[in-house]
Amino acid sequence: MKQYIYADNAATTQLDPQAFEAMIPWLRDEYGNASQPYSFSRKPKKAIAEARAVIAECINADPEEIYFTSGGTESDNWAIKGSAFSDSGHHATITSQIEHHAVLHSCEATERIGYPVAYLPADEEGRILPETLDRYISDRTRLVSVMTANNEIGTIQDIAGLADIAHAHGAMFHTDAVQAVGHIPIDVKALDVDMLSASAHKFNGPRGIGFLYIRKGIKVCPFMDGGGQENKNRAGTENTAAIVGMSIALMNNTQNMRNTSDSIRSLENLLITKLIEEGLVFRRNGANTLPGLISLSFQNSNGEMLLHRMDLKGICISTGSACNGSSDEISHVLQAIHLPDEYAKGTIRISLGKHNTESEILKITESLKQILMPK
Ligand code: PLP
Repeated sequence: MKQYIYADNAATTQLDPQAFEAMIPWLRDEYGNASQPYSFSRKPKKAIAEARAVIAECINADPEEIYFTSGGTESDNWAIKGSAFSDSGHHATITSQIEHHAVLHSCEATERIGYPVAYLPADEEGRILPETLDRYISDRTRLVSVMTANNEIGTIQDIAGLADIAHAHGAMFHTDAVQAVGHIPIDVKALDVDMLSASAHKFNGPRGIGFLYIRKGIKVCPFMDGGGQENKNRAGTENTAAIVGMSIALMNNTQNMRNTSDSIRSLENLLITKLIEEGLVFRRNGANTLPGLISLSFQNSNGEMLLHRMDLKGICISTGSACNGSSDEISHVLQAIHLPDEYAKGTIRISLGKHNTESEILKITESLKQILMPK
């Protein structure tokens, strides 16, 4: 198999080997449906309960507040549409202009059927300021949804400050923490959020599984109709293997978070220092960013071209988020932070993970130099 330098960890991550091992028995031998009453199903049922408890502990929630979903997209859809559909008064949702499309398009879907939505502007670093929310919010607001950290530029938001304002107006607060969970400390009680979305494949778990944290007492309609799984809130036969794999991956990432983020930060610093030493001129987007998430804009360049030229050198990076990686348009996030066009068009996202090495960073910087400053 061709060896790649994988520097697109915000798109997805490599599966934790322990998570992989832990999944095998549930795929091969213990295939019982966890909802069945016979003894063959007891083990998967117990494994799911244990995984729920592990995940809850990692984010300081109670196990009954964790609902398994198919990933970040479903969790976001559920939070936005579920809260709208449980509200006959058609109160407003407030979200931000820089959310992932899973949130934005869910909001647009509710808007089309009569639920008003307002979109908060970001500042030039991609911050959603609490004072901005304060200007937009009213007692007619039902839900505020602001992401914990942005997937394109990495800016981490003041979630506790935003949630405080939402609650002061009697609104619920949801955060899309898909890029943050497993990478920075997340404590749902300290953040005081009512709902939080997460996705396993962003923290070295398997793809196609995630969860929505719903604080006890919060009213949201079930999103998937069908059987009585997840305490009658999310129908569908449980994916035992994926749930177990997700819990192991999150536990490992949480236990090693300090060391991992320190070493990713030093790779990040090395990358920036080397680019400057090589004489490359660029802007770095975002502020107070996630470890390893590096959005760089090269003036009068072309992000798409850079992605393909890096690909020819066996290096995986992104132009923006994975979801619009093939589009020529300037992403909604770069537009929202008012990045001038001559920079926005030349933007790439390098996202480092725990498997990257110093020698890979040197190959990345050397390759960028060869492409951008040919001799
Ligand atoms: N929210 C954010 C911030 C993301 O970065 C992503 C994926 O890129 C999603 C939601 C969607 O998650 P999933 O791929 O698990 O559906």
